[in-house]
Amino acid sequence: MQKNSVPLVSLSINEQEIENAKRVFVARNLKMESVQAIGFDLDHTLAIYNLAPFDELCYSIAKQKLVETKNFPKEILKLKYDPNFLVRGLVVDTLNGNILKANQYGYVSKAAHGSNKLSRPIRKNTYSNVIVSLGNSRFQSVDTLFALPEISLFSQVVDFLETKKEAKKINYFELYQTIREVVDLSHKDGSIKKEVISSLEKYFIFDQKLSSTLSKFRSAGKKLFILTNSEWFYTNAVMSYILSNRNSSYKNWTDFFDVVVCSSKKPNFFGSGSQLSEFETEFSGKFFTGGKAEDLEKILGLKGEQILYFGDHTYGDIMRSKKDFGWRTAMIIYELEHEIIINEKIKDKQLKLLNLRVKHNKVDSEAKKMNKRIASLTTQKVNDYQKMGTEELLAIDKSIEKLLRDFGKKETEITKILIQIRDLEAEIEADYNVNWGPIFKSGNVNSRFGDQVQNFACVYTSRVSNFFDYEDEKYFRSPMELMPHEL
Ligand code: IMP
Ligand code: MG
Repeated sequence: MQKNSVPLVSLSINEQEIENAKRVFVARNLKMESVQAIGFDLDHTLAIYNLAPFDELCYSIAKQKLVETKNFPKEILKLKYDPNFLVRGLVVDTLNGNILKANQYGYVSKAAHGSNKLSRPIRKNTYSNVIVSLGNSRFQSVDTLFALPEISLFSQVVDFLETKKEAKKINYFELYQTIREVVDLSHKDGSIKKEVISSLEKYFIFDQKLSSTLSKFRSAGKKLFILTNSEWFYTNAVMSYILSNRNSSYKNWTDFFDVVVCSSKKPNFFGSGSQLSEFETEFSGKFFTGGKAEDLEKILGLKGEQILYFGDHTYGDIMRSKKDFGWRTAMIIYELEHEIIINEKIKDKQLKLLNLRVKHNKVDSEAKKMNKRIASLTTQKVNDYQKMGTEELLAIDKSIEKLLRDFGKKETEITKILIQIRDLEAEIEADYNVNWGPIFKSGNVNSRFGDQVQNFACVYTSRVSNFFDYEDEKYFRSPMELMPHEL
């Protein structure tokens, strides 16, 4: 059922001034007063990557590895990364080499083969009986921003291999696995991280308000922790940089945190986990690698709803921590800012679309009435021709002729309106992303991604520091949900 909601939220004067793109949105009530520890994922959560250079870097390293270690033709080195081709929340169909956008019910609403958009008839033909379900290994989801360069490369290599004259049937699943393997390696063997650490200011967006936000959480008496899959050497380098503007009460970046857990192996950290090991650093504090959620709860002396965790990965950070441990969750969705800015920019277009739909309904209902009248006149002729005089019958024909002419005109008008609606809908979608439209919606319903966010994030926002503008112990209240009969 489509969810309807009305805002029930009262904002303080200061909060009313927060621009929409920087707001915290609430899916489930969250009382900050009840939260005693706040944890943070590192990559794409505390640390905001500058996506253009970072994705380009990941893409180039993976491409290089395909040639050097997997014998791919050198020509693929000429492929160029297109930062606008993909968005988060899509799904790879590894059976057909396609990229899909699915709605909240698993129906495919958009599709591309390699990087070429599939026409509507081909899409319908391939997917009308398919429900995208991530329980099926055929479908791999593009859930983190880390996946964008990887899946872009996959699409372009599909195009490349298929345009080769000697092209044989590609096993898309194998190709996907091969690319997965080289990308995995580029994260693990240090090729990406070495370059990032050497130019931190190039690869990260420095958020001036981050250190004050963490400091504000601490002043409100919260324990803070980091829980990241990144290794200590990387965490240390990145955190030193992104908190380099801290005030003098925090001598080292580690002073913000009670506990730091690195190499945590999420999502398995929220399952059977791995061996927990404590290690020493040049700083004072508690530092661990590995472990599992129960270990961390013990170390913190807190559990379940007392913990709020900030992460960017729908499955690895948000879904598992919430579902399996009852932690409260704050999802960081970098793209939200762009999406909200576009929402505001296209308000006029949305209004125009709404008016066109109203007009369509009106003209359509007029046309239907005419049609009904024509049908009733023809029936009247057949039923009553014996009782009626010739003049009367010919008069009915005249009326039918006129009605048919008017009906034709209405149909032409309807076609014109539908063309305007079709073009405007396409224009609005393209305002978000030319290929995939908005990430949260799929037509009039939520996209698979939008649905996941709504179901698993208690609150969501574009960056951690957006919390700075809210009062310390804010009670984040969700809009009241209405069923259709309550509207
Ligand atoms: P987070 O801080 O928990 O978000 O963890 C991100 C870490 O996972 C970073 O160190 C990334 O380099 C690493 N990472 C991202 N994708 C992959 C992968 O495909 N294989 C191995 N490590 C990855
Ligand atoms: Mg992350």
